[in-house]
Amino acid sequence: MRVLITGAAGFLGSHLVDRFLAGGHRVVGVDNFVTGTWRNLEHLEGADEFFFIEHDISNPLFLAERVDGVLHFASPASPVDYLELPIQTLKVGSLGTHNSLGLAKAHGARFLLASTSEVYGDPQIHPQSEEYWGHVNPIGPRGVYDEAKRFAEAITMAYHRYHGLEPRIARIFNTYGPRMRPADGRVVSNFIVQGLRREPITLYGDGNQTRSFCFVDDEVEGLFRLFFSDYSDPMNIGNPIEFTIRQLAELVLEETGGGSDLVEHPLPQDDPKVRQPDISLAKAQLDWEPRTDLRDGLRKTVPYFRNLVEKEGAKARTLS
Ligand code: NAD
Ligand code: UDP
Repeated sequence: MRVLITGAAGFLGSHLVDRFLAGGHRVVGVDNFVTGTWRNLEHLEGADEFFFIEHDISNPLFLAERVDGVLHFASPASPVDYLELPIQTLKVGSLGTHNSLGLAKAHGARFLLASTSEVYGDPQIHPQSEEYWGHVNPIGPRGVYDEAKRFAEAITMAYHRYHGLEPRIARIFNTYGPRMRPADGRVVSNFIVQGLRREPITLYGDGNQTRSFCFVDDEVEGLFRLFFSDYSDPMNIGNPIEFTIRQLAELVLEETGGGSDLVEHPLPQDDPKVRQPDISLAKAQLDWEPRTDLRDGLRKTVPYFRNLVEKEGAKARTLS
C-alpha cells in the first residue's frame, strides 16, 4: 500500500511512518513543522519508499500518485502548543480534516483520524468507553482542541455516511516516548527533563488528577492494527493503567536519579480530573493491548531526553 500521513514530522506521526515502512508499505509524509521537526524523519533521508511534502494541510493538497490510505495526524497536541496556537489548531482540526478527507475520497482511500481522549473532556463517567458522549467546555481555552477533534470525528462520519468513505477513528490517550520535543510541554517530557536537570518538578494543582500513559510502541501498534481492521466507529487506543500525576512525578524521579523538589503550580482551567480508557473494544476487535508498563516505558524514554539535555542543554516548557 501507499499511505499518506499528515503530521509525519511529529512525535506519533514519525513513529507511524516507521511502522508502515517496516510493514513493507510506501509512505508520503506531510508536515508544516509547526510543532514537528525534521530530526524525527532524518533517518529516512534517501529512503526509496518514503517521500516528504512540506505543506500546511489546512490548505488543500492534490496528489498525482495514487494513495490507498490517508492518516490524519497533523495537529498541535500539547496543551501548551494548542493554547499558543488556538486558531491553527481549530483550522487543522476542521479545514485540515476536511482537506484530508477530500484527498481520501478522491483516491478511494481508507481514512484514519487521530482523535483523542479529549473528546470526553473532563469526564463524568470513569473509565471512559466509546459510548460516552463527553463533557467538554466549548468556549474554555481547551475548547480549541477538544471541539476541533469533535468536529473532525463528525465530518469523518459524515464522509462515511454520505460518500461511502471507509473511516477509522482512534481516540488516543496520553502517549509518551522518544521523539517528543523536550519543550513539548506535556507532563512526561516536562517531568523527565526537569528531573534530569535537577530542577523543580512542576505539579499543576495538587497532583491528584489522573492520566493513563501509553508507551509509543504500544500505541503505534494499536493504530496500525486499527487501520487494517474493518471497524469503522471510534475506538479507544491507550493504556488502561491509571496513575495520579504525583505518582508519575515520583516514578520519574526514581528513574532520573532524584534530587528535584515537587512544586505545586495553579491547575489550568478545565484540566480533566481523571482519565482512563476502557479498551475492551480494542482488545476484542484488534486483539491488542499495551505490553509496556510505565516504569519500563520511562526506562526506554529517559536516555533519549538525557542525550538532548547533556548535548544541547534542552529545557522543559511550562504554562506561564
Ligand atoms: P506533535 O505536536 O508531536 O505532532 C503533530 C505534528 O503535526 C507536528 O509535526 C506538526 O508540525 C504537524 N502539524 C500541525 N499542524 C499542521 C498543519 N496545519 N499542516 C501540516 N502539519 C501540521 O503531536 P503528537 O503527539 O505526535 O500528536 C499527533 C496527533 O495525535 C495529533 O493529531 C494529536 O491530536 C493526536 N493525539 C496525540 C496524543 C498523544 O498523547 N501524543 C493523544 C491524543 C491525540
Ligand atoms: N501537568 C503537570 N505539570 C506539567 C505538565 C502537565 O502537572 O508540567 C499535568 C496537567 O495539568 C494534566 C496532566 O499533567 O493534569 C497531563 O497533562 P498533559 O499536558 O501531558 O496532557 P493532557 O492530558 O492534559 O492533555
